[in-house]
Parts: sequence; C-alpha cells; structure tokens
Amino acid sequence: MRSRYSAYCLRDIDYIYRTYHSSVRADNPKQALAAFAANSHFIALKVLSCEQDSQQGYVSFNVRYMQQNVVYEFTERSRFVFEDAWYYVDGVLADTAPVKVNRNAPCPCNSGKKFKQCNLHRLSGS
Ligand SMILES: [Zn+2]
Repeated sequence: MRSRYSAYCLRDIDYIYRTYHSSVRADNPKQALAAFAANSHFIALKVLSCEQDSQQGYVSFNVRYMQQNVVYEFTERSRFVFEDAWYYVDGVLADTAPVKVNRNAPCPCNSGKKFKQCNLHRLSGS
C-alpha cells in the first residue's frame, strides 16, 4: 500500500495500474490515473491499521494531497487480495471537506515557504 502511495508521488502510473486487481483495471484507465497524479501533490500518508491473512488484506490509511490551492484529505479502508502478489481491489472512503489554502499561509506541503511562493503546486504549463 505504501508502495502505491510512493508510486503516486513519483507519478509511476504503470505501477499503480499493475497493482489494481484485474477485475477493476477497466474502471481505472491509465489516462485517468495519470491525470489525477499529474494534478496532485501528495503531502502526507498515515497508516492507521493493517490486517491480513494469507489471501486478503485490509489497510486503513489517511492521506492528504493538494491540487492547486486546495488541500484534500481522506481516510480509506482498502481491500487487497493476494494472488501472485498483492492487488488493490477496492476501498471504503471517508472524505473530509477540501480546504482552500490562503496565499500567505505556510504551505501545507511543509516546504517552509508561503503557499504563494511554493512552486511545487503549479500545474504543468502554468
Ligand atoms: Zn508547497
């Protein structure tokens, strides 16, 4: 699960796609994953719990990310199944309302800069 988070941070779309279970890959086309990853800057991941037996695993986590000047946060309980490796099947989401960042506030990505001076969140091409 951490490796999928890292893959989002690194925009490694092939890895994210490959670790979806084959039954849900069609619902998660690479273009959609790529668009999401390109527009999102991940700030924090907190793993809340892991349970697994030999075939199934559940990972609860909380993640924060930014898209332009908005911080999104959600908690998810993800379900994984083991075949030749672990695959993500689906998850139950609890969304938190998005929060807009004030231009003069410290950037939530912990860069130490004010948001307006932090250049980690510009959309490509702007
Ligand atoms: Zn920043």
